[in-house]
Amino acid sequence: MIYPNVLLNSAAALKEWKKADLAATARRVLPYLPAQARIHTKLYPVIKPNKNSFVFETSTDPAIFLYLDPEVTREKFENTVSHEMHHIGFASIETQTEAQLAGLPTITRTTVEWIGAFGEGFAMLAAAGGPDVYPHEVSTPEERARWNQDMAHYNQDLRTLDQLFLDILHGKFKNKDEVDEKAFTFFWHPRPLVHSGLQSGGDHREAIWSRKIDRLHDECSPALANLQSRCDGIEQGRTSQQRW
Ligand SMILES: [Zn+2]
Repeated sequence: MIYPNVLLNSAAALKEWKKADLAATARRVLPYLPAQARIHTKLYPVIKPNKNSFVFETSTDPAIFLYLDPEVTREKFENTVSHEMHHIGFASIETQTEAQLAGLPTITRTTVEWIGAFGEGFAMLAAAGGPDVYPHEVSTPEERARWNQDMAHYNQDLRTLDQLFLDILHGKFKNKDEVDEKAFTFFWHPRPLVHSGLQSGGDHREAIWSRKIDRLHDECSPALANLQSRCDGIEQGRTSQQRW
């Protein structure tokens, strides 16, 4: 049952959201995607029992479903749409990415696939509009507080993730299921590490990414040279050219 006041509030929110410049929200994230990535999507504001938002069918007919929350300002709406558009742009090059990974040994491939989880961090960065912008500038005080708290563990979390990738790479897990089980724990417990992993600042972000690719490249397979070249913009510290 939907109460009339809920609908009124939702209508007011929708009016605000409609003022958003969606083309601009897409343009904001394009510098943080490979040049061949494309963003094509439909956006559905929805009223439903759960207040979550999500992206649907990213690799076929991408759609963004956003709970029409009257508490969400136009600025926050734009930030969320930008974030989801970055995921959609990433998904648009799935075939090319698959082709690049095709020749890799399984263990290397698994490692690289899990490094792909840093896509969350890139989406945060891209949606913010750059490394000098606080990623929760337009978020609620609660979200800002959580982020700040998580960031206080940055150095420790970085070492934890580094160890995870090395453990995968060095065959410490019996099989892919065991890798997945362990890696999925890092999404939420004790903190969403992949969200924060690339977000605490430009220097850190560049260092993490280039170091991991370097290490994989050195230890595993020359085929990863392709991946490394895609990260040149990051390694050189030119944030405007980030393409991953
Ligand atoms: Zn995301």
